[in-house]
Amino acid sequence: MLNFVAKRFVAGQNADQALHNVNLLYQDGIVSTLDVLGENVSSKADVESTVSEYHKLLDKIFQAKVSAGISIKLTQLGLDIEMAYCKQALRRILEKASQYNIFVRIDMESSFYTQKTLDIFLSLQEEFPRMGIVIQAYLHRSKEDIKLLADRKASVRVCKGAYDEKESIALKNMDEIRTQYQWMVQTLWSAGCKVALATHDDLLINWAVEKISTKPEYQSISEFQMLYGLRRQKAKELASQGYRVRAYVPYGKVWFPYFYRRLRERKENLWFVLRGILND
Ligand SMILES: Cc1cc2nc3c(=O)[nH]c(=O)nc-3n(C[C@H](O)[C@H](O)[C@H](O)COP(=O)(O)OP(=O)(O)OC[C@H]3O[C@@H](n4cnc5c(N)ncnc54)[C@H](O)[C@@H]3O)c2cc1C
Repeated sequence: MLNFVAKRFVAGQNADQALHNVNLLYQDGIVSTLDVLGENVSSKADVESTVSEYHKLLDKIFQAKVSAGISIKLTQLGLDIEMAYCKQALRRILEKASQYNIFVRIDMESSFYTQKTLDIFLSLQEEFPRMGIVIQAYLHRSKEDIKLLADRKASVRVCKGAYDEKESIALKNMDEIRTQYQWMVQTLWSAGCKVALATHDDLLINWAVEKISTKPEYQSISEFQMLYGLRRQKAKELASQGYRVRAYVPYGKVWFPYFYRRLRERKENLWFVLRGILND
């Protein structure tokens, strides 16, 4: 059973439950990217079952004609086992997704995996143009990565970053992270890249809305992205104003690491959990 409190952030245990929630989001004008929960797998059998789950999901998205892409973590495809093997597993998912013209986003994990994730993305980008990557604004290295990706006309989701990184690796001050976030988005916009602004932060959302109002050409290359279970009203409001809005919709049984990152991000989420436990 999906833990009562995790239900707020996780859209179900299987693809059908998640797709039901994707349809509800769509009624509010919000499209989705579906994520099969799981990360850091250590056996090839687990990789095979992930590939098979994503293949089934792609079939279902296509058959149901829903407006949704998929998001994937490379450690779920064996990045800890062997890079070539991981790339091959990703390729098998990309081949199926491209048959259906479904967009695939490679999530970004902790800094230990940043270079490997970029290398795999860059090596497949030309062959699979309906694929994007994520860059985290808190990493010191991210400005250089953004310059490279802007040159490569990549589709980039920009987020603050969700992992516990050392000061030598990542910014810790929220104002600095926001400034870097804005620089990254502006650099991608100026290069004409597709940008997904993944944030629930009003300061960044209002900044982007203001920028788009002065440069309307940015609107068609931008979308706002929010996590399932967070700021639904805000997402709905942005969609009703004509912005493209996408929800990140995770499902599956391995929900704890994802759920734990959501708790670390905001103390309000922790209060939500405590309330749930006390009321149980
Ligand atoms: C679609 C999506 C995909 C992501 N993918 C990745 C990924 O691949 N890799 C990765 O490392 N991380 C990812 N993240 C997580 C991300 O890096 C951040 O950890 C997470 O989004 C929290 O940062 P934030 O900018 O949303 O706002 P926060 O830093 O949590 O909040 C900043 C401010 O926003 C405002 N705010 C936030 N929530 C609310 C609310 N509910 N009501 C009112 N005000 C609010 C408040 O002013 C708050 O102080 C993703 C996030 C999203 C939305």
